[in-house]
Amino acid sequence: MLHIRDLVVTYGAATALDGVSLDVEAGEMVALVGPNGAGKTTTLNAVSGLVPTASGTIDIGGRSAQVPEGRQMFADMSVDDNLRLGAWTMPRRDRDTERVYAVMPDLRPLRRQRAGLLSGGQQQMVAIGRALMAQPDVLLIDELSLGLAPLIAARLIEHLREINREDGTTILLVEQEVDLAFDLCSRAYVLEAGRVVAEGPTDVLSADPQLAAIYLGAA
Ligand code: ATP
Repeated sequence: MLHIRDLVVTYGAATALDGVSLDVEAGEMVALVGPNGAGKTTTLNAVSGLVPTASGTIDIGGRSAQVPEGRQMFADMSVDDNLRLGAWTMPRRDRDTERVYAVMPDLRPLRRQRAGLLSGGQQQMVAIGRALMAQPDVLLIDELSLGLAPLIAARLIEHLREINREDGTTILLVEQEVDLAFDLCSRAYVLEAGRVVAEGPTDVLSADPQLAAIYLGAA
C-alpha cells in the first residue's frame, strides 16, 4: 500500500531524512517511533506531499489522509462542519458525516458543538474523523496521544482498531508513547536522526534493551 525507498528530505542545509525506506501493506497498522527530531513528522509530510523530497521514491497504492500534529481544528465551527471540511474535494454525495459517527459513536452527541470548546481527546477524534471523510486507504496519524490523559489515548486507540477492522484502513501511526503505539501496531520502524535504526514486529522490538535506551532518550 505504501512503499518508501531511500527517501531524502532536506530543509536548507539540514538533512531531516537520510535515506529512509519503509513498507506498509494494505490493512496493516504500523508504528513510526523515535526521539524528538528523528524525522517522523517529516516522513508523514513527505507522503502527504507537504514537503518536497530531495531523492528517493514514495509509492502509494491509494488515497492518503493525514491527522496533523496539534489537530488543527477550526475552533469556531461545529464538529459537523469541521468533519465536512475533510471531504471538500469529494463529490457532494460523499460529504455525509454519518459514517464517521457510526465508527466513532463518542462523537455523535457533540456534532453541533463548537470544536474549540471540546476537550483535547474529543478534538483528536474530530481530527481523525475529518481525515476519514476523505475516505483514505492510508491514514497517517501524527502524535495521537500528545497532551492527552492515558485513558483518553487508550480510547482513541480503540477507535483506530475499529476503523481498521470496519473499513480495512491502513494506518501509519507516529507516536511518542511507544507502549501505546505497540499496543495497536503489529510492526514498527524506529527512526533516529533521519535513519531507520530498527524495524520489525513490535513484540520483538519491545524486548530489545538497546531500543529502550533510544526510547528513554525521547522521554
Ligand atoms: P518531533 O517529535 O519533535 O515532531 P520528528 O521526529 O517528527 O520530531 P521532524 O519534525 O520530522 O521530527 O524533524 C526532523 C528534523 O528536521 C529535525 O532536526 C527538525 O529540527 C528539522 N525540521 C523539521 N521541520 C523543519 C523546518 N520546517 N525547517 C527546518 N528544519 C526543520
